[in-house]
Amino acid sequence: MEESKIWKWLAEVSDPEIPVLSVVDLGVVRELVLTGDQAIVKITPTYSGCPAMKEIEENILDKLKSEGLENVEVQTILSPPWTTDWMTENGKQKLREFGIAPPEGSSKDKSVLFGEAKKVTCPYCKSRNTEMVSQFGSTACKSLYKCLACLEPFDFFKCL
Ligand SMILES: [Zn+2]
Repeated sequence: MEESKIWKWLAEVSDPEIPVLSVVDLGVVRELVLTGDQAIVKITPTYSGCPAMKEIEENILDKLKSEGLENVEVQTILSPPWTTDWMTENGKQKLREFGIAPPEGSSKDKSVLFGEAKKVTCPYCKSRNTEMVSQFGSTACKSLYKCLACLEPFDFFKCL
């Protein structure tokens, strides 16, 4: 059983909320432990109570089993908590192409929590002249923004 092969399969498991991103792009898969013929995949939810986590777990199990791995276990690790810093550059790029503004800077910035609009760059025209329309976008993980330069609405991935 090759570790690199399993990582490749994991990179084909997409996030239920943002299908263009894999669970590896998102930084949700923290660790892969191989012992004998058992594979343990350790995952960290993007935020506690993320309803997609159960689905991610099942998708990982389904994928690895369909590739012939019989003995697979998914473990959820809550500490240290997921941060947007774990998202790969590749993942951020894919988000932009999908029309979602990727997280900026560190997730330690909790201003969104307190309802303060935060400056977000438009994924279409790169203008920073944007405003928050709604705290909640198409899912609880996203806020809805509008660009005042090109007038396009877009989602901002916030996952606290
Ligand atoms: Zn724009």
